Amino acid sequence: MNKQLLVIMMGLGLLMMGMLGCQHVQKAKDQALDDLNKIPTPLASPSRSSIPLIPTHFPPIKIEKLPSPPSSLLKSRTHTITPKPIPSNPPQPKTKTLNKPSPSQLPNTPKGSHVRVRPYTNLSHTGKKIAYLTFDDGPSLTTIQVLDTLKKNNVHATFFVNGNDSALGIAMYKRMAKEGHAIGNHTYSHHYAAIYRSPKAYKRDVERLGKLLEQVVGYRPTIMRFPGGSNNTVSHRAGGPYIMNDITERMLADGYTYFDWNVDSEDASGRKMSSRDIYQSVRYYTAGQRRIIVLMHDAPGKQMTAEALPAIINYLRGQGYQFDVLRRSSSTYQFLRPYN
Ligand SMILES: [Zn+2]
Repeated sequence: MNKQLLVIMMGLGLLMMGMLGCQHVQKAKDQALDDLNKIPTPLASPSRSSIPLIPTHFPPIKIEKLPSPPSSLLKSRTHTITPKPIPSNPPQPKTKTLNKPSPSQLPNTPKGSHVRVRPYTNLSHTGKKIAYLTFDDGPSLTTIQVLDTLKKNNVHATFFVNGNDSALGIAMYKRMAKEGHAIGNHTYSHHYAAIYRSPKAYKRDVERLGKLLEQVVGYRPTIMRFPGGSNNTVSHRAGGPYIMNDITERMLADGYTYFDWNVDSEDASGRKMSSRDIYQSVRYYTAGQRRIIVLMHDAPGKQMTAEALPAIINYLRGQGYQFDVLRRSSSTYQFLRPYN
């Protein structure tokens, strides 16, 4: 009996304790909610209570696409940095300069230098603007188109020709002379190994062409241009490092005047040049010069030069240049020139 009473009392005690516990938990919950409402909100809102404790709406998060890291960074992670491949046709730097010989390019003359380090020129920097268009290495089929364009635009130019006694060559020489262009000597063979062996070998080749031209057009040109230019180094192989000094001296002494150029169309630069590239080169090198000797080529395959010619003429005319042909008395531009 006592045992039964004890069990009942223990049960009641447990029940009361449970109820008290529940009240305690509820109190704690209420307190927590109250505390939560007391947390200051950063939002300036007139009725803080209207802000739901748990936001029901999330503004859409803008996920911006992150730029992909530079490939060099990716490569560095794996320590496999490889040098940038050099493009086969690198863009021309803006700081390109004219093909002036640097002291290191010029041969050292043993007993006092008789070579000018800087190009020699007496082209005027004042007065009217004159353009001397020059074409080397013809005549060829390209010459026909060049002559047609010159005729159409009423422009006279200078042709530094090679030897070509074919029917086409003869016809072209005649047409050049008849249409008022100047003909200059660019050697008969243009064969570096043969012409640059000695001053004598050079002159022999020049005279061979002079003879042919005398027969065809009636005169021997006294104006000339060295194959590769007067400062070329391809001649060193045939005639040694001082060969151009000796040849220029000899040719001047024999009454020839030679012309290099101060505007390079770069149509023989070895790179593949479009007609637009050629036109741009002429524009680039022309800038700031009042007298220009423009190097171009009418050799076989120089189609792009012929195609660039109308735009070149238009441009130069627009810039106020008049066209003229080179004569023995004309001002010149020479990359290399003996002092005497
Ligand atoms: Zn040439």
